[in-house]
Amino acid sequence: MPHETEVKLDYSYDPEWRRVRGIRICPMLIANFVCEGRGCICMRHDYKTILDHGKLWVDGDSDPLITYEPYKQEVALLGAFILQCKSLSLSVQRSEESPHYPGQTILLIVRAKPPEHRD
Ligand SMILES: [Zn+2]
Repeated sequence: MPHETEVKLDYSYDPEWRRVRGIRICPMLIANFVCEGRGCICMRHDYKTILDHGKLWVDGDSDPLITYEPYKQEVALLGAFILQCKSLSLSVQRSEESPHYPGQTILLIVRAKPPEHRD
C-alpha cells in the first residue's frame, strides 16, 4: 500500500494506467466514434478551458480513458460538457484532487461506461 503522499505525487494516477502518446485526445475516439475534426467535442472553442492538460491512458483492462485537469470551471459549462459526454455513453468522474496544480485545478476522468450502465 503506497503512502498517501506518494499517491498524490504520482503523476500516473493509478499504477496500472499506461500513458498513450501520438494519438489525438478526443472523447469521440474512446466512445468508438471517429473524431469529427472542426466542431468536434475535442475542438469546441467553448470547451477550450475544460479540455486542458488532456492525457490519454489505457487502464489495467486495456480500456482507454482521458484525463483533463482544467482550472476551476463555470458549473454550467462543465455541466454541458458532461451531458455531451453522457450522450456518447461516456462517464465523467470529477475530483478536486488533481495532480496538476492541486487546489487550483480539478481532475476529470472520461471513460466509456460499462455496457450495463449505458442509458
Ligand atoms: Zn474529436
